[in-house]
Amino acid sequence: MTLPGAVPTTNDFPELEEWRSLTIHQHPQWAEHKDFTSVINELSAVPPLVFAGEVDQMRSDLARVANGEAFLLQGGDCAETFAGATADKISGRVKTLLQMAVVLTYGASMPVVKMGRMAGQFSKPRSSNDETREGITLPSFRGEMVNGFDFDENSRIHDPNRMLTGYHTSASTLNLIRAFTKGGFADLRSVNSWNKGFTANPAHARYESLAAEIDRAIKFMEACGADFAPFKDTDVYTGHEALLLDFERALTRIDSRTYQPYDTSAHFLWIGERTRGLEDAHVNFLSKVRNPIGVKLGPTTTADDALALIDKLDPNREPGRLTFITRMGADKIRENLPAIVEGVQREGAKVVWVADPMHGNTISVPSGFKTRRYDDVIDEIRGFFEVHEALGTFPGGIHVEMTGDDVAECLGGSDPIEESSFADRYETLCDPRLNHQQSLEIAFQVAEYLAK
Ligand code: PEP
Ligand code: MN
Repeated sequence: MTLPGAVPTTNDFPELEEWRSLTIHQHPQWAEHKDFTSVINELSAVPPLVFAGEVDQMRSDLARVANGEAFLLQGGDCAETFAGATADKISGRVKTLLQMAVVLTYGASMPVVKMGRMAGQFSKPRSSNDETREGITLPSFRGEMVNGFDFDENSRIHDPNRMLTGYHTSASTLNLIRAFTKGGFADLRSVNSWNKGFTANPAHARYESLAAEIDRAIKFMEACGADFAPFKDTDVYTGHEALLLDFERALTRIDSRTYQPYDTSAHFLWIGERTRGLEDAHVNFLSKVRNPIGVKLGPTTTADDALALIDKLDPNREPGRLTFITRMGADKIRENLPAIVEGVQREGAKVVWVADPMHGNTISVPSGFKTRRYDDVIDEIRGFFEVHEALGTFPGGIHVEMTGDDVAECLGGSDPIEESSFADRYETLCDPRLNHQQSLEIAFQVAEYLAK
């Protein structure tokens, strides 16, 4: 037992090790690697990436979302890359998120909780363990925190040293996010400048006129002597799929204020559709930390599955603790979502409901690229809003794969991306992302749904 006054350590929480004896899906094979133990020891001693107080703040912000008083915007790459952690690319994504948030805040007159799928989204579940090209079979790419994208034997080895690079890349990304959002860049009075540097297109023009309107409103308030302190900076939280439990466990610390375990690799962690087995390792581990937790719910989810997940992950029914991120597909959302929402409502649990309109709408085009149609993405969001409206529940947010770059990965939009652009502007290592223009368009559309 811990002496009174002494802060406990993770050794005082044996439940943090329970997952090790459970079934674990999608986890790397690297425990026998010569560097595994030294990497884990190093990660167990490094400074936390986020602080427990911020995690608590996010949980209470999400409680507002659960109560229908704020909207959650979560966005970023499907898979971040180490090489992609440059100032330009990070600022492009942060600016796009801030623009989307301002469109939503202004359009729907509602506070927006902002979360980057950033600073840690370096591991991926895959539908197949192997990939075969021209008769050669190698382990699948699982995100740069596990192995390399290049199709050669060396690069595809599961290497625990990549977790250290993942930690340091997350730290530098987070540092820049904090600098942007706390250092004056996110001041609402510069709402105009966030559009600079992006390609001009219909969404860009629409944003510009909204920014001019906000500018006028701000000048008016300034003239009235309003206090602008709350406009100066903003909170952008981070979240990623907590797939690599070796990493997540090593980054877990006991908070000196609450004496509770927090996974300090990010503010928010989610469990993927493929790893949400009730008795499996991922659900078990995340049930033991205080962070707000998300679970992806695919089209086969039943109301009983959702209720069992609530019992495991949110036994105290704490608003803000649990977010369900539904990703049914545009053709299934209206049919499959109501029973789940009704079941949760009957139980009296207050979860945050978020639409991921990306993962149920992935298609392959004949040229071999994985893509998504903008219209399907919008249709799933519309279906999500319709279902919640019919049931009297709050459609709490969206979770999108997006980038600030002018890529061509998803089809359509008002300045339509065609398949012919994929050859030159398709950059993702994993799933296709909305580009800057498509992301803004989604925000305008969602703001209209929310304002109704
Ligand atoms: C993802 O978010 O990239 C992902 C793999 O999602 P899901 O678990 O919903 O398939
Ligand atoms: Mn994805």
